[in-house]
Formats: sequence, structure tokens, C-alpha cells
Amino acid sequence: MEVFYNVYIYALGGILGAVFGSFLNCMAWRIVHSENVMKGRSHCAVCGHQLATSDLIPIVSYLALRGKCRYCGEKISPRYVVVEIMLALAFILALWQLGITVEALELCVLSCILLALSLVDLEIYQIPNRFIIAGIVWWAVLIPFRGSVTYSLLSGLVGGVAIGGVMLLLTFVFDKITGKEGLGGGDIKLFFMTGLFLGPLTGLLNLIIACIVGIGFSLFMKKKKIPFGPAISMAVYISMLAGPGVVEWYLSLF
Ligand SMILES: [Zn+2]
Repeated sequence: MEVFYNVYIYALGGILGAVFGSFLNCMAWRIVHSENVMKGRSHCAVCGHQLATSDLIPIVSYLALRGKCRYCGEKISPRYVVVEIMLALAFILALWQLGITVEALELCVLSCILLALSLVDLEIYQIPNRFIIAGIVWWAVLIPFRGSVTYSLLSGLVGGVAIGGVMLLLTFVFDKITGKEGLGGGDIKLFFMTGLFLGPLTGLLNLIIACIVGIGFSLFMKKKKIPFGPAISMAVYISMLAGPGVVEWYLSLF
């Protein structure tokens, strides 16, 4: 019975992830194109035709239509379906590693915020403040559910201020020395917001992973300018899952 129960939970998580991924795709597209996020039906990005409900089923619609718009026949970017699959996997992995817990819920919602801001950052090299604020609110909402309220509050604030502060200082020095712009303001705010969730030690680990992922991205992306938001976001997801274990292991060496 337990096997069936687990399969059911993962399937549910996967479907929810794909649905949210589809919604965030649309939301990011609208932010990038300065459209109202809340109003209006979904439409094809090329011909503008309103999409029917059957065109909006995550992953399934894309496969059924063979990646083409039903109305104009134009190719739909595979990025949309990749994003849906990524968030589905992110939800399943969170549930598998953390079980049905507040931590899993925390990570799933944070993943949504990180994914959305990454999609926007990829297009316009900006992380709108509304995502940073959404993250801070989500962190604050969960304070009473993380065991010790005092510890959760202190660890978060120290993590946010320390990691955000270090990056602000490094960027300031880097800009002064090289005369180039290093990290953008949005990246530093993102380090602050995610530092709240991670605390100082895992936050530090996150910095290291973000640099490695960032270098990896810059090797693979064919863009001149590399947005750092997606790399930080990916690193935060990894740190939230593996971080506590890695930090514990590291501290046990001394
Ligand atoms: Zn179309």
C-alpha cells in the first residue's frame, strides 16, 4: 500500500508542478511584454489567437500539437514545455527528499518564485522587486512553522544580511577596480531574499554553488550578457535540499 501511496503523492506533486510551471511561463511572458498579469485570456505569442482550454494542458498540449500553434502553425518554443517539466521534477524531488512537510511546501513555493524571476531575468536582465517581496513574505509567513521562532528569525536575518551584505561589498569593490558592472542590484536583493531561507552557513554554501552554476551557464549560453538570476535560483534549490547535510558534514570535520 505504501508504494501506491507514494506514487500517488509524487504524481500529484508532478502534476501540480507542471500546472504551476505553465502558469509561471505565461506570467513571465506577460511581465516581459508589459501585459497585465491578472487580466485577459491566454493567447498565442505569434498570431494572438485566444487559446482553448485543450491548448493549455501542461506538457500534454505541447506534445499533442507537436510543438506548433493549432491556429497559425507557428512553432512554439520548447522552452515552455522544458519549464513545465523542470518544475514538475522540482516538486517531485522536494516531496521525495523532504516528505509531506512544511519544508517541502516551503521549497515548492520558493521554487515557483525563483523560476518566475529566472524566466524574466533571462529575457530582460532584471529581477522585478515583486518577486523579492513575494519571497520575503513567504519566508515571514512560515516563521511560526519552523520549530523555534527565535532561531528561525535570527538565522534568517543573519543569513540574509550577511550574504546580501557580502555580495554588495564584493560588487562595489569589483566595480571600482574593473570599472565594469558585476552583479546587478536585483542579484544582490535575490541573495538577501534567499539568504533568509538558507541562514548564514547554507547561504555561504549557496554562494559557492551559485558561482559554479553561473560559470557553467556562461559556458553553455550563447548570450553576450549572462543573467545571474537563474544561476542563483538553481543554486538555492540545490542548497535547500542538500545544504543542511553538507554543512553538518563539513562541521563534523573539526
Ligand atoms: Zn498562433
